[in-house]
Amino acid sequence: MTIDVEEYFQIEAGHGVVMLEEWGQWESRVEQQMDLLLGLFAEHNIKATLFTLGYIAKQHPMLVRRFVELGHEVACHGNMHQRLHRLTPEQFADDLKASKSRLEDTTGQAVLGYRAPTWSVTHQTNWAIDVIFEAGFKYDASIFPVKHPQYGVSSAPIKPYILRDKNQKQLIELPPCVWQIWKNKNLPVAGGGYFRQFPLAMMKMGMRQAKQHKRPAVLYFHPWEFDAQQPKLPLGKLGQVRTYRGIRGAYDKLNKICHYGQQIGDWQLMRDIASQTPVDTFSL
Ligand SMILES: [Zn+2]
Repeated sequence: MTIDVEEYFQIEAGHGVVMLEEWGQWESRVEQQMDLLLGLFAEHNIKATLFTLGYIAKQHPMLVRRFVELGHEVACHGNMHQRLHRLTPEQFADDLKASKSRLEDTTGQAVLGYRAPTWSVTHQTNWAIDVIFEAGFKYDASIFPVKHPQYGVSSAPIKPYILRDKNQKQLIELPPCVWQIWKNKNLPVAGGGYFRQFPLAMMKMGMRQAKQHKRPAVLYFHPWEFDAQQPKLPLGKLGQVRTYRGIRGAYDKLNKICHYGQQIGDWQLMRDIASQTPVDTFSL
């Protein structure tokens, strides 16, 4: 179980609509939304991995400290939620350094895992592996093994593997859950639109297949996906549908997924999954 801990106004669909300098003008809703999710996890006795922005730790240090006190894992989602395609390697290194040290200073714990905004570790940004490794991370969770216009590496493995770059730097990669409907045709059922806008059966099929094939079903959600009262960003028509459809029923669905996960297996922290070294390797 993973959450990308960010505000509703920091989403990729809002890039170019809400400017970085304007973030302070939007009402913060992350705290109340995380309270909701932490309550749900407590009910189901789930410990989650929370990929948190350095920005959130700066604005809400007590919230991030509470994550750790409750036994959750705090991992890193970068500092300012910029897709890697928009950063130079130097800017990315600075973003990682700022966010990792902010999260570690806030929680007093080592931060071992990283997830890029919008799954933006791809073939074009393969230079990022070296930067993530050099920043001191042990595992990465940024590569979606699907074909998608904005992200994904369709040839990447669907279970944990050793990710290598051309300099032989390596990270443990923990990919999100897919439902493989035939060879090399993977549906991204781990979260997002597939979770909110399609029947829950699809996510369950992916989870069940993962269980059968002895791979972890890594799921991902965002606090804003459960917030029907959030101020709406001035997005285009398609952006509105993609971003806001299915929010009203999302909490009930997540409740069911928490329950289903417990029925078929155990919820584990990402750092515990990463502690078992995978056998497969893949180069980007
Ligand atoms: Zn994000």
